[in-house]
Amino acid sequence: MEREEFVNAKRIVIKLGTNVLRNEDGEVAISRIYSFIEDMAKLVKQGKEVILVTSGAVGLGKKKLNLDSTAEDGVKQACAAIGQSRLMSFYENGFGIYDIPIAQILLTEDDFSLRHRYLSLRTTLNKILEFGVVPIINQNDTVSTIKMNAVLSGMKTCFSDNDKLSALVASELDADLLILLSDINGLYTANPKEDPNAHLIKEVDGVTDEIMSLGTDASEGGRGGMRTKLEAAKLVTRFGGKVLIANGKIPYVISKIFDKEDIGTMFLPSSENLSDKKRWIGYATNIRGQLIVNQGAKKAILEQCSSLLPIGILNVINDFKQGEVVSICDEDNVEIARGMVNYSSEECRKIVGAHSDNIEAILGYKNYDAVITRDNITGLL
Ligand code: GLU
Repeated sequence: MEREEFVNAKRIVIKLGTNVLRNEDGEVAISRIYSFIEDMAKLVKQGKEVILVTSGAVGLGKKKLNLDSTAEDGVKQACAAIGQSRLMSFYENGFGIYDIPIAQILLTEDDFSLRHRYLSLRTTLNKILEFGVVPIINQNDTVSTIKMNAVLSGMKTCFSDNDKLSALVASELDADLLILLSDINGLYTANPKEDPNAHLIKEVDGVTDEIMSLGTDASEGGRGGMRTKLEAAKLVTRFGGKVLIANGKIPYVISKIFDKEDIGTMFLPSSENLSDKKRWIGYATNIRGQLIVNQGAKKAILEQCSSLLPIGILNVINDFKQGEVVSICDEDNVEIARGMVNYSSEECRKIVGAHSDNIEAILGYKNYDAVITRDNITGLL
């Protein structure tokens, strides 16, 4: 895809990683932060809608308290609270110079996972954009308990880093383009620090397993790494959005990107374009329950987009209520899809392997033939 077409976007989500907000000594990179603001202000003045997802709160709080580690319980949460207001003061001042109002939005997993909150968040964010205000989003580490709550352990969370959060925001708001800025130039064919033959991939058309295998773990300071960026790219391109991974340390990188300079790795949109509900089911919920299905059901779901009938289910793992989203896994425990169930785990256990005609005889009632109706299933492979 030509650069011109790629950067032609009205609604843009920009994610700034911790490592571009501070310099090599761990100090706040003030001039860089202000250059990002100057670039983003330019986009806003051109009539584009900019949504900023920013990391940096924990790092700034840690610096303020002169701490070396945030490993102890509650310390990261405390640092996030201390650093967040400092982080916002830079944005408030910077955007203020250009007379652009900003809005702070701190989010936890539940804000996506609970559908009524997800829908309300979407309405609010759209209103903020309508007012010409720049929403500035970060994970609300101070109150996010997902990592500490033993009851929730084993849960697949919808996000635990800002890469994935920015992808969910882009998906929820139907953004045209997500730009992930960190201290890496983009996606390489191999680790450039280890392999002299490694080269930057300019364009990715489809985030395949092969592309995913190029992902590495988190860089120091932030929680995301190339793997989480690729997951973000997979999600956004699947709903028809474009993604650019680029180096935020290139001076005035945002303006350069919109001046069509050949920077970073472009991820092209797929033509699949999932409905909002299917996006939410596939990516935006926290999941504990699992249904293990047989080969026939797997094939029917992935190849014919069929409903999941009780006869195709082999096993029910963990507890869930009717209306919750669960993982659909094959016999090797590979997650193949997610879906919103018509029956609770208790009911599912009773009807596993049964023909749908027998549901009423087993349960004493029958609300649906399918455990998950086709419209409520999102394939993941
Ligand atoms: N919310 C964290 C912060 O503000 C960053 C999370 C991440 O790096 O993905 O420091």
